Amino acid sequence: MENIEYIIIESGKAIQPFNYSVGMYGSKFFHELKNNRKFLGVRCPKCKKVYVPPRRVCADCFVEMKEFVEVGPKGTIGTFTILRFAFIDPETGTQKPIPYGYGFIKLDGADTLFQHYIDVHDESKIKIGARVEPVFSDDKKGTIKDILYFRVID
Ligand SMILES: [Zn+2]
Repeated sequence: MENIEYIIIESGKAIQPFNYSVGMYGSKFFHELKNNRKFLGVRCPKCKKVYVPPRRVCADCFVEMKEFVEVGPKGTIGTFTILRFAFIDPETGTQKPIPYGYGFIKLDGADTLFQHYIDVHDESKIKIGARVEPVFSDDKKGTIKDILYFRVID
């Protein structure tokens, strides 16, 4: 097969700072993550389904949810992918190192799947149903980046 040299064209530099509200439930979630390194979900009073991250209304029952519950921090891989083709990360403007894993994780006690990166140090351990735990950043900002990634527990 012919070797192809991929060309990267830079479109220039643009900075557009912005702020947005994550809402009351999102604020509670990120506050707990930042200050206590805990995952907060919310339970439906009708069907008992636990949503993570928390949301105000149950998608099945259409009732307001107010019961916050701690879930995780460990969980199980529901599904995943390993990305091997490099691209420019829109968050950094630089090429994201490959390979990296991305998955949907069912935190213990939750009924929904939580999306995040998965460490691919040992790809043979990454499987649907594998147990994982979060690796937190030392830099606490109260954002999803307070979690660096999830790693498979031996
Ligand atoms: Zn419900």
